[in-house]
Amino acid sequence: MSYSHQVLTKLKEQYPVQKLFHQAVEEVLESLDLEFKKDSKYQKHSILERIVIPEREIHFRVTWIDDKGKVQVNRGYRIQFNSAIGPYKGGLRFHPSVNADVLKFLGFEQIFKNSLTTLAMGGGKGGSDFDPKGKSDGEIMRFCQAFMTELFRHIGANTDVPAGDIGVGGREIGYFFGQYKKLANQFDGVLTGKALHWGGSLVRTEATGYGCVYFAQEMLKERNQSLEGKTCLVSGSGNVAIYTIEKLQQFGAKPVSASDSKGMIYDESGIKLDILKEIKEIRRGSLEEYANEVKSAKYTSIKDYPKDSNPLWAIPCFAAFPSATENEINENDAKALLKNGCQCVSEGANMPSTIEAAHQFINAKICYGPGKAANAGGVAVSGLEMAQNASMHPWSFEVVDKKLHQIMESIFNSASQTAKEFGEPTNLVLGANIAGFRKVASAMIDQGI
Ligand code: GLU
Repeated sequence: MSYSHQVLTKLKEQYPVQKLFHQAVEEVLESLDLEFKKDSKYQKHSILERIVIPEREIHFRVTWIDDKGKVQVNRGYRIQFNSAIGPYKGGLRFHPSVNADVLKFLGFEQIFKNSLTTLAMGGGKGGSDFDPKGKSDGEIMRFCQAFMTELFRHIGANTDVPAGDIGVGGREIGYFFGQYKKLANQFDGVLTGKALHWGGSLVRTEATGYGCVYFAQEMLKERNQSLEGKTCLVSGSGNVAIYTIEKLQQFGAKPVSASDSKGMIYDESGIKLDILKEIKEIRRGSLEEYANEVKSAKYTSIKDYPKDSNPLWAIPCFAAFPSATENEINENDAKALLKNGCQCVSEGANMPSTIEAAHQFINAKICYGPGKAANAGGVAVSGLEMAQNASMHPWSFEVVDKKLHQIMESIFNSASQTAKEFGEPTNLVLGANIAGFRKVASAMIDQGI
């Protein structure tokens, strides 16, 4: 049994129910086997056994009072996974599905993603099973304050710097920051994704989506192809999806789809971004409203989806940008995309493809950018926000956007060069995993036990 297989087997025994975490670890370890054959130092220092266990897992109770005066109880978490190359860094997710499994998978991905950005950030993730859907603004504020009342003692600008993720955006970051400042009596860069007039960075809102399109552009450039004039599929309708659509349109591509928890829209004439933004960013409504307002759009409710596939991925396209959530592309979906001629998949969400789906893309040798590389633009600009906060000097939109573009180029180059080193030039999963791992593992070795 190989070194990585031994570690994975033990991990599955220790945490039998954490299936998403197993999946994330398995995907990385599959790639690392080749590196371990070349270099025995990792095994000598028990790097794998160490890297799969978070340095610290914080679980806490969050109690708050809803609008009816009833006491509500939720679970809060922060997984401080790895601090070998910088303070823990990663978002907070508010969604009813959140548990230790989800956050350990996300925290594990974050270690390698942050390493790929070239910036000094360790890996962490947190959140709560709190469901923000249908909550009033007052309830959101009270929940965020209650959550931060516990979290504040564990974070700090040089310790752990949370940000947003699903269910946590600018509004929530504002409430967290207000409460942190009151408790810690400190105004510093303890959170990223802040508003511009109190320490936020330009381009942070757009960063994940823009970065994901820049990454696709890099993959395509190597094959003398471009996005111009091409039909693209985007899933999701949150921050990542919206700014992916915006950048695709700026590049002359035609994004034709979006989805939310209730269904999907297919607008053959191209998504009307101003209407989508109005519905999702201002009204916080459902995509059905888009179909009511835009005649060219076709709405499909999730109730009418087939059992074992997502109809969004059956629409013919040149490139796909999964920007909703984990495992949203299964093997059937991957096969449908390939059958319809899809040439490029750039992942805006974290682990949106199942292991089987990813294998389909890798074997077909299409341009396939795994999430930890393709969606690293968000956390990269968070790192740039930290740099601006530390220097007390904000940068212009052009400066930040240029740095984001350079970071995405450099992530592509390091993943691609590493893949070439192992004789699999198109396998960016392999390249990204090994390149991200090497930096963290060597820092761990340097720092001793
Ligand atoms: N939640 C984002 C991610 O998955 C951003 C994290 C951050 O900015 O710290 O990378």
